[in-house]
Amino acid sequence: MFIRLSNEITKDSIVDGPGLRAVIWTQGCKHNCKGCHNLSTHDLKGGFLMEIQNIEETLKSLKLQKGITFSGGEPFEQSLACMEIAKIAKQLGLDVWCYTGYTFEKLTNEKDINYKEGWKEFLDYIDVLVDGPFVLEKKNLLLRFRGSENQRIIDVKKSFSNKEIILKEEYHNVEQVVSHYIPFKKIV
Ligand code: SF4
Repeated sequence: MFIRLSNEITKDSIVDGPGLRAVIWTQGCKHNCKGCHNLSTHDLKGGFLMEIQNIEETLKSLKLQKGITFSGGEPFEQSLACMEIAKIAKQLGLDVWCYTGYTFEKLTNEKDINYKEGWKEFLDYIDVLVDGPFVLEKKNLLLRFRGSENQRIIDVKKSFSNKEIILKEEYHNVEQVVSHYIPFKKIV
């Protein structure tokens, strides 16, 4: 099986979830968010194809990474290929984060006319979903791991078991992020 990527896998990222992370940059996105800074990732036929087997070898060679993060582009445009990668990551003991322009509600509504095969299956291998489109008017540079205030950092497993959306509150508290910077101001 192949996946279409927009960039080579990035290692040691510290901005796409907690710890050091390997980022899988998927190609193809239909959301067209105003202010998107990844325009080159939109073309569904752009980027380049890579065999999942090659990605597996890369994941096996990783050192000191806490997990992998799917970004894009829109990972759910290639949910079955992403699911295969997520499955390998879990077998290797890595946690899985995923950014998506879809909402959790949209991805889990199998009755929705636009629901796509593989969405639920991919979600089953995701630990944390950062959901919703980037909204320029709600952009906030103080947010951790997300670009605009409408986006949510969701604990997928707890949300499924509780049958309601459970946020990763530790990453949602803007005040915590602000206080994190205060010592630097004091030193100056
Ligand atoms: S979902 Fe992401 S890649 Fe797609 S248009 Fe929005 S910001 Fe850009």
